[in-house]
Amino acid sequence: MPGTLPAPLPEILHGTFGDALLLDRAQRAVYGYDNSRREALPDAVVLTREPAQVEALVRVCRAARVPAVARGRAISVISVISATGAAVPAAGVVVASFERMARIRHIAPGDRLAVVEAGELDGDLQRALAPHGAFWPPDPTSTNDSTIGGNLASNAGGPRAVKYGTCRDNVLGLAAVTGTGETVPCGACTTKGRTGYDLTRLPVGFEDTLGLIVEATLKPSPLPVRVLTVRALYSDVHAAAGAAARIMAQPALPCAPEFMDGDALDLARAHGAPDLPQAAALALIEADGSTEGVSAAADAVAGAARGPGLVDLARADDPASVARLCAVRKVLSPALRPVAPKKINEDLVVPVSRLPERVEGLRGIAYASGIPIVAFGHAGIGSLLYRPEDPAQTAAAPSALSAVFDRVLALEGTLSGEHGIGLDKRDFRPRAIDPPPLDAMHAIKRGFDTNGILNPGKLLPLP
Ligand SMILES: Cc1cc2nc3c(=O)[nH]c(=O)nc-3n(C[C@H](O)[C@H](O)[C@H](O)COP(=O)(O)OP(=O)(O)OC[C@H]3O[C@@H](n4cnc5c(N)ncnc54)[C@H](O)[C@@H]3O)c2cc1C
Repeated sequence: MPGTLPAPLPEILHGTFGDALLLDRAQRAVYGYDNSRREALPDAVVLTREPAQVEALVRVCRAARVPAVARGRAISVISVISATGAAVPAAGVVVASFERMARIRHIAPGDRLAVVEAGELDGDLQRALAPHGAFWPPDPTSTNDSTIGGNLASNAGGPRAVKYGTCRDNVLGLAAVTGTGETVPCGACTTKGRTGYDLTRLPVGFEDTLGLIVEATLKPSPLPVRVLTVRALYSDVHAAAGAAARIMAQPALPCAPEFMDGDALDLARAHGAPDLPQAAALALIEADGSTEGVSAAADAVAGAARGPGLVDLARADDPASVARLCAVRKVLSPALRPVAPKKINEDLVVPVSRLPERVEGLRGIAYASGIPIVAFGHAGIGSLLYRPEDPAQTAAAPSALSAVFDRVLALEGTLSGEHGIGLDKRDFRPRAIDPPPLDAMHAIKRGFDTNGILNPGKLLPLP
């Protein structure tokens, strides 16, 4: 049964897309949710195969004033009590699913470029690049389940972003279908390029509110030959922040620094993390590069990690020792589950020098709200460990979260390091962005999407 699309739109869609159109309720239901617990049944789904079909879809939707929402694999990450909901369609929407547009057009390691369709899985691209001695640096933990289009629209980063950057730093060009149904190709095949406004990076991180990305020219990097891991434990968070600042300021930039506060360490230790001395903060750092270069890089990182408050310093390069050092990270998620099965994960990032203030601020909020908060991860995840079966904690959770956002913004931090805004954080954005830049964003949206049909209601607060 079709949904509530105005007549004769179902017939027009059927005539245009034939078998690629899903109108059956059960089939549509699969495209109505993401990794959040949000759900909304789209009225129709088109399994696009070619850019021309994406153009046709947007034109048909525009003529009927019906919203169109792009969908990769829809695993947008869990943030507030649910996911950001960026890929969840509102009611009365046609979904453009990119699962069938998953071809690699061209790989040229010498030119450091790879041209791919938007529905290509990130993990499949990495596997195709590896024999060329290359990789595409953004590597969200969801790499095997998320698409290049979804990665770009979310500006995904991953643990290696400190050294290699996020999607925005690793895309040379793209082609996107705007709200008028026209394909706008932009960018270049070269690392340098200065031919006008930077339209390539504009849709990156804009959660499908400016255009449906159909193809991207990505910038792969040479695959590192060797990775070394350094683990440093500190007596207090100030010492850890001081070490982090020293590590980031020296020339051998680490590729994947991670942080954990004392509460997270206690939980990991209680759940069997091996060789974990008592400490109030941990830094786990990877250095990568050539066989010779990486040893020197790890020496430099370890040297910078030494300083006041250091409790323990360990280093590993064979797989067994690396696994042992990194076990602390592996046991944390399962350790958190029984404590708070519905934890609220927030990817709130502050400048390194403000890390102690962040930890102390969050501790104060935890104390005042009665909800434990732990901090860990590459993006500075802050997890509010609230128990939904406890009415007092359920009542306190929204204001605790609001206080966390305020605290992070006061420390010159950001609402989202990498999980995005979607629906969940949309209404917090006016706290983070002043009216003039917000107005400019709305104006850009109107320029690309005159009728406001592209993923309406996401990312930007309602005007
Ligand atoms: C377990 C897990 C771990 C994660 N870890 C990390 C991490 O470490 N670092 C990190 O940065 N992120 C992380 N993420 C977030 C992840 O990067 C995004 O969820 C993912 O990139 C989205 O890809 P997708 O194909 O699922 O897109 P979807 O969820 O389908 O879509 C996400 C957004 O992109 C839009 N979109 C999708 N395709 C297109 C297109 N072709 N054109 C225009 N817009 C489009 C959608 O409309 C939506 O707004 C994680 C997510 C999960 C579930």
